[in-house]
Amino acid sequence: MEFIDLKAQYRALQTEIDRNIRRVLDNSQYIGGPIVKELEEKLAAYVGRKHCITCANGTDALQIAFMLYGIGDGDAVFCPDITFISSTEPSHMLGAVSVFCDTMPDTYNLSPESLERQIQAVLAEGSLKPRAVVAVDILGNPCDYDAIIPICEKYGLLLIEDAAQSFGATYHGRKTCSFGQISTTSFFPAKPLGCYGDGGALFLDDDELAAQCRSICVHGKGPRGKYDNVRIGMNSRLDTIQAAVLLPKLKALADYEIHNRQTVANRYNAAFAGHFTTPYVAPDCQSVYAQYAILATDTETRDRVVAHLTEKHIPNMIYYPTPQHRLPVFCNEPSYGETYPNANDYCARTLSLPMHPYLSEEEQKQVIDAVLEAL
Ligand SMILES: *Cc1c(COP(=O)(O)O)cnc(C)c1O
Repeated sequence: MEFIDLKAQYRALQTEIDRNIRRVLDNSQYIGGPIVKELEEKLAAYVGRKHCITCANGTDALQIAFMLYGIGDGDAVFCPDITFISSTEPSHMLGAVSVFCDTMPDTYNLSPESLERQIQAVLAEGSLKPRAVVAVDILGNPCDYDAIIPICEKYGLLLIEDAAQSFGATYHGRKTCSFGQISTTSFFPAKPLGCYGDGGALFLDDDELAAQCRSICVHGKGPRGKYDNVRIGMNSRLDTIQAAVLLPKLKALADYEIHNRQTVANRYNAAFAGHFTTPYVAPDCQSVYAQYAILATDTETRDRVVAHLTEKHIPNMIYYPTPQHRLPVFCNEPSYGETYPNANDYCARTLSLPMHPYLSEEEQKQVIDAVLEAL
């Protein structure tokens, strides 16, 4: 059994993926070109944004967003305590400071209450300027944008949606990658929409900023081309072969993969109800379950389930064992009085199980039986 079965997905899409890769080899255009353009148009249309700009990976996408808005020295960037370090790395690369906020007890996403407390604490302390919020749709489940957007507006903060885990999810009928001034995603192979290497994208609506964003991706190129550099940029592009792989995968995601993920999650939810805390998805929202995480009653029980699954050769992971504020690299950063009770509790009890659109009922039964046996 695989934790995320990319081989099963390849078998299902092999004819189209192979044909598309051939097209790239036959044309020998390996960077950019019509296939990348076609993908960008389809991605933008799918999420409901005017512009999609692909780049080399999801971490670059976030750094490019920060560069586009000139985030740097003296700026405070607010982000949730439960995330992957990519959400906060660009702050540190560019001289800004990450201010971690506690998470919600039910969705494990950014807590609007903690966000507002941290903004006020930074303002009161006075040495940093509150600039931006990175809202992460953790585990594939969208953040509470109806609560977060008004806080960003109240304090004049830029909202960046980190949708690396949530491509294809919906919040009140609207797709992720469409919230905030700018959104980013990742096509790392294990993400809900993954390629066969590294890849990422930015989404935004403003024409002028979209042009600047493309310039940053290609060494700050100017209107007269790539040797007319007008700003400091990066070398961050999506390989054409990756776009060729992503086109059929995007179609499969929209046609049936998101639906299959719901079926798998619903079966798990029914089996684990009463034994574990199962994922909470708010009404009128849909998660893509980048990870299916359950919370055990305590750490000891979680660790017992992990040991039993591992003994039975059932893949399992902990996303994430450590909240950002306790990572060795960040543990000396100021917390502004926040004690992160929800993030600490989540990390102490969480456990992720095999989850992907090709997980058979039989495989799921094995996972469920082994988890319940461990209790
Ligand atoms: C995976 C991930 C990223 C970064 O993506 P890469 O393509 O691996 O650079 C950013 N944010 C979150 C929350 C992620 O899970």
